[in-house]
Formats: sequence, C-alpha cells, structure tokens
Amino acid sequence: MNSPSFQEIDELHWTLGLIQNLEVGLVVVDRAGVIKLWNGFMENHSGVLAQKVAGEKLFNKFPELPIRWLQHKLESVFLLRNAAYISWEQRPYLFHFKASRPITGSARFMYQNVTLIPLTSPTGEVDHVGILIYDVTDTAVSQIALQDANGKLQTLSREDRLTGLFNRGYWEECLNQEFERFNRSQLVSSLVMFDIDHFKRVNDTYGHQAGDEVIRVVANTLKEQVRKTDIVGRYGGEEFGAILTGTNGDKALIFAERLRARVESLIVPYGGHKLTFTISIGVSEINYEIDSPTEWLEQADQALYQAKQSGRNWVTLFGDTDSVS
Ligand code: GH3
Ligand code: MG
Ligand code: MG
Repeated sequence: MNSPSFQEIDELHWTLGLIQNLEVGLVVVDRAGVIKLWNGFMENHSGVLAQKVAGEKLFNKFPELPIRWLQHKLESVFLLRNAAYISWEQRPYLFHFKASRPITGSARFMYQNVTLIPLTSPTGEVDHVGILIYDVTDTAVSQIALQDANGKLQTLSREDRLTGLFNRGYWEECLNQEFERFNRSQLVSSLVMFDIDHFKRVNDTYGHQAGDEVIRVVANTLKEQVRKTDIVGRYGGEEFGAILTGTNGDKALIFAERLRARVESLIVPYGGHKLTFTISIGVSEINYEIDSPTEWLEQADQALYQAKQSGRNWVTLFGDTDSVS
C-alpha cells in the first residue's frame, strides 16, 4: 500500500475535526460492543471524555442503557447490513442526557432520534456499527405541547363549562352508543332525566349567579351519586341526564329516589341566604320495543313530565303509573 499523500492526511484531519465538532452524537462500536469512537457531542453531553471510554465495552460503561433491546438492534444491523432508525416517539432517548436548554426549555431530558449504520471494512465485512444520536428535543417538545392542546380541546368540546359534566352533544352521542350496545349485548340500562323545580324563582329571587351556583351543586351531587360506568351530562339549562349502564328500571328508581332525597336535603349558602330546592325525575328502562335513542329519551322525558304533574319533587318510572316518592 502506498503511504498517504499530504492531501489525504489533510482530508483525514478535516474529517476528524468535523466528526469531533458535529452537533450530532457519534459512537462507533465493534461486534463485541467495544467503543471505538466517541465524538465531542458525546463528551459534552455525557461528561465522559473519549479517552475514558475508548476500548471499553459500551454496556459496561453505561449500564443504564436498555441493554437487551440495543444488543438486539445492533445484532440485526450486523446481520442484515441495513441501517436501523429509532425515533423519539418509539423511545424518547437512548442516552439519558440533560436537555440543552434546561432553563428556557420545558424538557427534562434530551429527546433523541437514533440511527444505527453498518460500517464496512476494506475487506467488505460489516465489523462496526455507527450510532448517530440526534438531539430532537425542540421538535418533540412542540409536538407534545400540540398533542396536549388537542387533548384539552377535545375535552373542552365534550365538557359543559359550568358543571364539568358532559355537554349535551357528547352525552347524546353516548346515549346513541348505549342504545346500539343494548341491541348487541342485551345488557339492560336505564335513563334518568331530571329538572330542577321552579328554577326560575331561584334566578328571579337571588339572581342568575345564584342560579349558576345551584346548577353546579346539583351537578356535583349527581357526580357523587353515580358509579364510574354511568354517563352523566347537562342536557339543558337546569336539566340533566344520567345513563345508568347495566341497571334495570327498579334499580334506577332506587338511584333516582336517593338522588331526589339528597338534593332535597341540600342547603346552599349564597350571599347570606340559604338556598334549598328540589328536582323532579323521570326514569326509563331500555327495552326491545324502543326503536331509537330519541324514543328512549322521550319516554324518560314523559316520565319527568308526569313527575312534575304529580306536584314536583317526585320520581316517575315510564310505564309505571303508581311510582313513586
Ligand atoms: P319547573 O319546575 O316546571 O321546571 O319550573 P322552572 O322554573 O324550573 O321552569 P323551567 O325548567 O322552564 O326554567 C328553566 C329556567 O332556567 C329558565 C332559564 O332562565 C334558566 N336557566 C337556563 N340555563 C341557565 C343557566 O345556565 N344558569 C342560570 N342561572 N339559569 C339558567
Ligand atoms: Mg325546571
Ligand atoms: Mg327546565
């Protein structure tokens, strides 16, 4: 072999300088996992100098690495002679480095994309792998923030602002689903609709803010009374709906009666006053004669109407003439 020319030596120097100063981490390991190259980026972020790692096994030096997983990845690069890519979304980081901007940035660590490249020797064998570590913290953080915002928007569009219950649109979607589910699974459910009695009086006597407070308190009482599997929503101004999944009409009636009595016993302090109020409730158990979610809702609404007619502060089960309270 000829000895290298001056130009070749210059080029080698430049290449080494570039590798050293690259804003990308570069590690080269051989088949046994021994570190052959560790560039400036790796030194700066790990705090470990190249001379301390050269000739050491990567997994001995950094036991916190996901050893089995990385070993498997490296082996497949050696075997298949193809590069492998791991994005921060699959695995947020390979090396646990601090984020480069711990004060202005919100990330607690550096998110990394990782590429494993097979390196071929002059004899054509793949006997080393290059591990490239890209700092993608900025991208990851903005993407996570975007996902968060989208998640919040979605909740907002499901949620009633005043009470935190589901809003009418979303609750009706749930009602449709529950109706469909019944037709598939035959598991009975009941619908409970209720309305605050003489609510206009609360607004007229104590003001709209007092009315809002009453609505909030009623919503919280409802939340306290239901099970996790029940689906509760604010249907209108002072009208609420609860889908009691897996609950028949008799059990729903017991639930409704308990809710009625609980609301009747509430005392809401407001502006030096003590507000008391009642609700009227209509209950409808699902059955095969009901053709649509709307019909199911209408039955509960009719029962509610009867409860109002019976003098309010009352519970009625649809189709049951002598219920209740
Ligand atoms: P009934 O016993 O027959 O239900 O009598 P009611 O006075 O409660 O009559 P109705 O249900 O028709 O009245 C609803 C009132 O609720 C009318 C409306 O001004 C008021 N309202 C609707 N939404 C809100 C709200 O978000 N906040 C407040 N404070 N009042 C509301
Ligand atoms: Mg009312
Ligand atoms: Mg009403």
